[in-house]
Amino acid sequence: MSTTFSALNMAEQQITDLDEQLLRRKLRITESPCDTKASVGQRELKAFCSNDYLGLANHPKLVTAIAEGAKLYGVGSGASHLISGHSIAHDLLEKKLASFESESIPNARALFFSTGYLANMNAITGLARLAGQGEASIYSAKLNHASLIDGVRLASAQTKAKVALFDHQDLHSLEEALRNDAHPLKLIVIDGVFSMDGDIAPVEKLVQIAEQYDALLMVDDAHGFGVLGKQGHGILEQLNVHSERIIYIGTLGKAAGVSGAFICAAAPFIEWLIQKGRPYIYSTATPPAIAHTLLTSLELIENDEGIRRRQQLNQLIQIWREEMSFINWEKVSSSTPIQPVILGSNANALAAAKLLDDAGYWIPAIRPPTVPVGSSRLRITFSANHSVDDLRELIKTLKMIEQKIQGAS
Ligand SMILES: *Cc1c(COP(=O)(O)O)cnc(C)c1O
Repeated sequence: MSTTFSALNMAEQQITDLDEQLLRRKLRITESPCDTKASVGQRELKAFCSNDYLGLANHPKLVTAIAEGAKLYGVGSGASHLISGHSIAHDLLEKKLASFESESIPNARALFFSTGYLANMNAITGLARLAGQGEASIYSAKLNHASLIDGVRLASAQTKAKVALFDHQDLHSLEEALRNDAHPLKLIVIDGVFSMDGDIAPVEKLVQIAEQYDALLMVDDAHGFGVLGKQGHGILEQLNVHSERIIYIGTLGKAAGVSGAFICAAAPFIEWLIQKGRPYIYSTATPPAIAHTLLTSLELIENDEGIRRRQQLNQLIQIWREEMSFINWEKVSSSTPIQPVILGSNANALAAAKLLDDAGYWIPAIRPPTVPVGSSRLRITFSANHSVDDLRELIKTLKMIEQKIQGAS
C-alpha cells in the first residue's frame, strides 16, 4: 500500500532541500562513555567535540555516586516538584548550588531543572511576567544560544514584552536604548561564554549598566560553570562581580559531567519562578539520583581535583594559542576551552570534518543556523582528560589538512 499525502511529501521535500544545501545533519551513534576517545561504528576516534570540559562524564566517583543515588532514591521522581517529586537530594543540591554563587549574588537561592533549555525558558518567561502585559522589555544579545532566543520569543508571545537585539561588542547602543526605555521591567539576556565563539561576555560592564538603568541581567553560563573561576563557580567568580540584579543560569551536563541546570538569583525571584514558571510547574522532577550524583560532581569541581583539571585545561588553551597557526583559515583564539576555526562555506567545513574523520578525529562541522551564514566552522573543544601530546598531534593534523584543502581548491 502506498501512502502519499501532503504533509509526508513536504517532509521528504524539506529533507531533500537540506541535503542540497549541505545543511542536513547526521546522528552518529557512540558505543563508549563520553571521553577523549570515542568508539563510533566500531572505530576509535579522538574526540575534540564534547562539552565535558573537566572530563567528569565518566569519572569513577560519579559512576559510583549514580549507583548509590539509585539505591537511595530509586530511579524515577514520580511527579513534578510541587506535587511530590521534590526530594531531599534536590533540596541539598539547590542549597549547594546557591552557595556556589552566593559570593556574587546576595541572598542567593537556586532552582534545579532537568535541562538548560528548560531553565532558560522558565527564567525568561517567568521574569517577564513580573510585570503586566506589555510592561517588560527584553534586550537579547545577537549571538545568544537558541534556548535563550526561544525563551525570549515565548516571553514576548505570552506577555507582549518588547524585544530588542544588541551587539555585545557595542554596549553604547544598548545603553542608549535603555536610557530611553520607560518600561517598568527591563531584562538583559546574554551568554556568559558564547557557545560557538568561546569569547567571554563583558559581564562587569553589563552589571554596571543594569545597576544604572534599573534592569535585571540574566547570564547563561552554560560554558563557564565549572570551568571559570578559581573554584569553578563560573563567570561571576572569575570576573568578581556582585549584584542582586544578576539572574545566573548554570548548566550541569557540560563541565559538571552529568545532566541538568539551575537558575540562581535573589530569593524572591526564585520564589516567584516556583509559583509561576510554567516549565517548572508542569514538568516531572529530574530523578533524585541525578541530583545526588551532582552533589559529588560539585565537590570535585570546587576542590583540589577540580583545580588540577582547570589548570590542565588552561595549559592546553595556552599551547593552542601559541602553537596553532593557519595560512587561510581563521583561528578565533579564545581564553576558554572552546576554540573555533572558521572556514566560511559549508562545503569547506564539511570537507575538513571529513578529512579529520579519516585521520581518526571527531570534530564536527558547525553550520547555519547554529552559526551565521558564511561562518561555518570547526568547533574544537578541549577536555582536562586531553594530554599535551594529544593536542600537539591535533595541531599537526590540522595544519596538514588545511594544506590539503587549499591545494585541492
Ligand atoms: C548547552 C546550552 C544550553 C542548554 O543546556 P542543556 O542543559 O544542554 O539543555 C543553554 N545555553 C547555552 C549557552 C548552552 O550552550
